Amino acid sequence: LGRRELVPSGTRVSIGSAVIGDGDIAVFAGPCAVENREQMLSTANAVAGHGAVGLRGGAFKPRTTPYSFQGLKWAGLELLAEAREETGLPILTEVVDPRHVDRMAEVTDAFQIGTRNMQNFSLLSEVGRTGMPVVLKRGFGCSVEELLTAGEYILAEGNDQLVLCERGIRTFEGSTRFTLDLSAVALLKRRTHVPVMVDPSHSLGVPELIEPLTLAAVAAGADALLIDVHVQPQQALCDGKQALLPADFGRIMGRLDSLALGL
Ligand code: PEP
Repeated sequence: LGRRELVPSGTRVSIGSAVIGDGDIAVFAGPCAVENREQMLSTANAVAGHGAVGLRGGAFKPRTTPYSFQGLKWAGLELLAEAREETGLPILTEVVDPRHVDRMAEVTDAFQIGTRNMQNFSLLSEVGRTGMPVVLKRGFGCSVEELLTAGEYILAEGNDQLVLCERGIRTFEGSTRFTLDLSAVALLKRRTHVPVMVDPSHSLGVPELIEPLTLAAVAAGADALLIDVHVQPQQALCDGKQALLPADFGRIMGRLDSLALGL
């Protein structure tokens, strides 16, 4: 179903007004977690001002330990909707539980499946069934083949609005949070017709590496990027270490524009 040889041209995925896979690099940006109204709205306005085509933000946060901030949950989703209202940008947010899918579908423009749920097959079938766009993140211990077959659970529901996202895998290398596997991006572009997104923020965990790896992701064939931005990264309740300040995000957007113009 997802194999490029069966569908030779690339599939375009529409998330509200944003299109992924049309040749332009679609950038979704925002905080790792929705924390409060002021943080969400100011970050949303900042990324919109710098040319992001969509907003990211976790309302439900699947954290490694149950004692970490778990997200504002449904209240966070309402804040994302308010940010969409204010900026006009569509929203992408993570769904962690099949029982949440229908209620979330009433608000979000697209579902994100996180790395820890890549092989939660009942969740994949449930989001697939909605027909809504889905960004499926690669499990950090999963192969490219396993990502492709997990994606089939969404395609098999008759939903081709699927984006596969490389977000780093676990290796022996400890200098970055995970190892961003850009060979997977080039490989996926040859193996499947669905668009490919790259999340440099969650893979690297080091803000100063985000610009070079973003450019490298585009060179490898990425159709879209997912970037953490926070107005006060030091105060972030979740993964603040990796979030970019709006001005640094703006500089990366400028580099992407120059690339698109061939400068
Ligand atoms: C996220 O993008 O908010 C996230 C938690 O990412 P991942 O599932 O890749 O860790």
